[in-house]
Amino acid sequence: MTGKQIAIIGGGPAGLMAAEMLSLSGHAVTVYDGMPTFGRKFLLAGKSGLNITHSEDYQRFAVHFGSASERLRTALDAFTPQDVRTWASGLGTETFTGTSGRVFPTVMKASPLLRAWLRRLEAQGVKLMTRHRWTGFADPGLVFETPDGTITVRSDATLLALGGASWPRLGADGSWIPLLSEKGVEIAGLQPANCGFDVDWSDVFRDRFAGAPLKSVTTTSDAGTFPGEFVISRHGIEGSLVYAHSAALREGLSRQGHATLFVDLAPGRSIARLAKDLSRQDGKISLSNRLRKGAGLEGVKAALVRERGSQTLLNDPVQLAGLIKALPIPVARPRPIAEAISSAGGIRFDALDEFYMLKALPGVFTAGEMLDWEAPTGGYLLTACFATGRAAARGLDRWLSDAARA
Ligand SMILES: Cc1cc2nc3c(=O)[nH]c(=O)nc-3n(C[C@H](O)[C@H](O)[C@H](O)COP(=O)(O)OP(=O)(O)OC[C@H]3O[C@@H](n4cnc5c(N)ncnc54)[C@H](O)[C@@H]3O)c2cc1C
Repeated sequence: MTGKQIAIIGGGPAGLMAAEMLSLSGHAVTVYDGMPTFGRKFLLAGKSGLNITHSEDYQRFAVHFGSASERLRTALDAFTPQDVRTWASGLGTETFTGTSGRVFPTVMKASPLLRAWLRRLEAQGVKLMTRHRWTGFADPGLVFETPDGTITVRSDATLLALGGASWPRLGADGSWIPLLSEKGVEIAGLQPANCGFDVDWSDVFRDRFAGAPLKSVTTTSDAGTFPGEFVISRHGIEGSLVYAHSAALREGLSRQGHATLFVDLAPGRSIARLAKDLSRQDGKISLSNRLRKGAGLEGVKAALVRERGSQTLLNDPVQLAGLIKALPIPVARPRPIAEAISSAGGIRFDALDEFYMLKALPGVFTAGEMLDWEAPTGGYLLTACFATGRAAARGLDRWLSDAARA
């Protein structure tokens, strides 16, 4: 044992991974979390199968983090998607690759992995303290609200892994922002990522089709063109195919004040073929029948065409075909961050040194979703949380060694 006391605040995937590394280095590690149990968001992620990483070629995997990809690269290189699988296997959780290339535990949930992980951490000597909500820095020390009142804890080094601000009832609520801002740490405001969007539906369409899935479509924005499905909601649009465009739509809204998602309702057919099939229909039959017979569209897909097309356009087979192939859905705003899968924004990489230490607060390291990166769903989020947890732990370990030598 080194005799060094390490405080890790935040017991999600990033903080627990840092605890694993630092306890293996022989430090006395305590993980504090404000909630009554650890890893609540990780467990929620498990409710939809726990997409823990992705199996695509690593060079492609590593560029899914937008402008932060380069900055995250060293951390990811040191803990690749294959390492995530090997690590999970070491905790008794085998994984498989789904048809989309996404990787899941064979049990399709997070609880066995989290239980085994916490047991192993305790066996390594890590102290796990729940109901300890960090409220700021004392001089010296860290201040926590606990069921027994306010306490101050001293540590030789600290690692913050407090998450973003999505699903705040699971513990991560962004309340760390003022605590770090007042210390001079530069932070990009947290914004919803992998989120739905509000759309100004007509009352008739909303009442009739809220909850209806649009299956086998492709969608296009500045992010690219992707196949899949999404859902019409009372507020607008939701689902994984929308999340894939959320960064591009959010940025379009903030840059230009408007953004549009284009939907191809008949991806298997060319526009020319569609126009030909539609023009063959008797002009006297109803629009519903023309769409069904000429384009194979019914239900919510046909209703969406009616919702977006003017009467003149709907009567013209060529224009109607154009609408079906690139139906515009202008989005008004992202849904609130509390409903999002993850957060964009956070501590700017310029506020960190290359070892994940806050330049403004020597001896304080950070990891996970509280850093300024974002990624689509697909296992990228958890992989980067694990990888930055390990990178920050390595940085902290190195900093302690340098301090001991000095
Ligand atoms: C519904 C849903 C499904 C998801 N599915 C997936 C998926 O399948 N694959 C994937 O890759 N990602 C998924 N994610 C995202 C992933 O869960 C997160 O990116 C990841 O949990 C972030 O890890 P973290 O350790 O940085 O933060 P968190 O997991 O948010 O952990 C932060 C911890 O810090 C604690 N904390 C915060 N503030 C304080 C404080 N002041 N004092 C003490 N403790 C504090 C919190 O209680 C929390 O336990 C999903 C997210 C959601 C909401």
